[in-house]
Amino acid sequence: MSTMVAHMEKINESPTVAILLKFIQPVLDSATCLAALELLQKNPAIFAIPVVNSGNIPCGIVDRHTFVESFIKPFTKEIYGKSPISDFMNKTPIIVGKETSIDDVAKIIIDAGMQHMVSGFIITDNGQYSGVADGHGLLNEITQRKQAHLFYLAHFDHLTELPNRLLFMDRLAMAIIKAGRRNTHLGLLFIDLDNFKHYNDSMGHGFGDKLLVAVAERLTVCARKSDSVARLSGDEFTILVENVNSQSDLDILGERIVEAMHQPLQIMGREVFVTASIGTAMYPGDDEDATGLIIKADAAMYEAKRNGRNTWRHYVPGMDLYSFDRMSLETDLRTALARNQFELHYQPQVLLATGKIAGNEALIRWRHPERGLLSPIHFIEIAEETGLIVSIGEWVLREACRQQVAWIANGLEPMSISVNISAMQFYQTGFSEMVRSIIADSGMQPAYLELELTESLFMHDVEAVLKTLHELRELGVKLAIDDFGTGYSNLSYLRRFPINRLKVDQSFIRNVEREPVNAEIVRAIAALGRSMSLELVAEGVETDSELSMAQTSGCEFVQGYRFSKPLPADQLESWLREKQRSPAK
Ligand code: C2E
Ligand code: MG
Ligand code: MG
Repeated sequence: MSTMVAHMEKINESPTVAILLKFIQPVLDSATCLAALELLQKNPAIFAIPVVNSGNIPCGIVDRHTFVESFIKPFTKEIYGKSPISDFMNKTPIIVGKETSIDDVAKIIIDAGMQHMVSGFIITDNGQYSGVADGHGLLNEITQRKQAHLFYLAHFDHLTELPNRLLFMDRLAMAIIKAGRRNTHLGLLFIDLDNFKHYNDSMGHGFGDKLLVAVAERLTVCARKSDSVARLSGDEFTILVENVNSQSDLDILGERIVEAMHQPLQIMGREVFVTASIGTAMYPGDDEDATGLIIKADAAMYEAKRNGRNTWRHYVPGMDLYSFDRMSLETDLRTALARNQFELHYQPQVLLATGKIAGNEALIRWRHPERGLLSPIHFIEIAEETGLIVSIGEWVLREACRQQVAWIANGLEPMSISVNISAMQFYQTGFSEMVRSIIADSGMQPAYLELELTESLFMHDVEAVLKTLHELRELGVKLAIDDFGTGYSNLSYLRRFPINRLKVDQSFIRNVEREPVNAEIVRAIAALGRSMSLELVAEGVETDSELSMAQTSGCEFVQGYRFSKPLPADQLESWLREKQRSPAK
């Protein structure tokens, strides 16, 4: 990082003309033209002779070309040879102090006429003659710096000063050729921040930018000097690791990054926690070309996200490949709603005290005509960025309420339904009115509807948010905070908001065995929740040990693969009927 900064400063900061300075012995203004001519003839490399007065103050310049041209003419030498040089020199040379910047001199010369470019200019030190510089040197310096700057702009990311996609792909391609020749392996890490968009939306882009810079620094610290860290776009980073022996080398780096991210970042006077999901791929095992490797590492990164984020995964053949065609996904997304391509899957939530299913979370899926069933991690962000989330979200709400009523009509015991709400949807004027009318249309009891909101939402215009929250509570719907614990370390704001439940993020539930501190965190959240009469849901419970941790730490509800993956409505219905018949398990 520091070398990068230095590099950028070097480019931005124009050096002084001192670097161009050449000392040429000046002549006194009383010297004769013959003396000057002799100097020029003896020294073909000299392009001009500076002239100074007896106090070593420059007062003119003799340009080789014009001077020699006129003295070559017959008789000039005889007639004028003994005249003082002051009669023949250019009396208005460009004189600059040696601390003048190259850029300023360039401007002076261009303004004064380009002939000065040829004769050069005089450089002084405290007003005294110090040396001369020629236009070529100046031009060289300017164009080289321009080139370096252009190169920099084209190859480095302005914000983090890391190599950008272009440079990274080039380095990766070179590294692949080298590794192929030497029969070595190389590794690629694809890193995507978890929930970065929430920070950007709720705290502003300035905050988001600072966060990215801080993350870039942290990644650079985690990597070895010989590794190449780059920012591909947005919150996506990559690291190229040359000469790896096996995947366990990448494990070490993955682990180090995940660990490093657990330390809070200080951004604009705030403590922020941000986690990353990492995917890795290796040359030549996983792919033999640069683009292929990126796509595979990206696929592995999505697998890490699917596994609860804040972790890393290696590419395994068969993982879905999606990346690089975001544009086409965006185009398709615009028509997906009209073409009826969305569907909802439902994941049950278990009330631990009774073992019964208390409710289901509706999770959107996109049945894409070519790509098959897409999970929301592939398109919710695009939907949010394009604003499509507003209409998609409205459809989700309507469909989920309809389903809840249909299940009861089909004879299932009443269960609540949880619906995820994006910040952008929530901020729409008339949001609570929309919720009210959907509930009324569906005919469901409002108390069965729970809206899942994200922590970041509460950091925005607090009064407006509070107003909407109270309107929703008055309708009788329940409110939950989703992915709790991933947002902000300051929890005190919660007291102000009329919330019913906290859904503890899966990253705290997962891997309790490997990270026992997670259990402590969940216990602390549970204690806080109880003190505020909040219900607690553990998300992403996969194993028996995670289940018992959730239970002993004070979560009342659990949700996760341990019980069921999200299922289409009809499959969930069969599953529920089965369960109602044999409630054990
Ligand atoms: P979320 O609301 O936190 O949903 C829980 C996610 O965790 C779901 O992923 C679910 O399939 C997954 N999950 C549940 N149990 C387990 C487990 O035991 N292990 C693992 N590894 N994962 C588990 P999904 O369905 O891919 O949804 C991802 C996110 O997309 C959701 O996170 C939610 O933030 C967003 N989302 C889903 N549907 C909607 C929607 O209709 N509107 C909006 N705005 N966002 C949605
Ligand atoms: Mg949710
Ligand atoms: Mg969640």
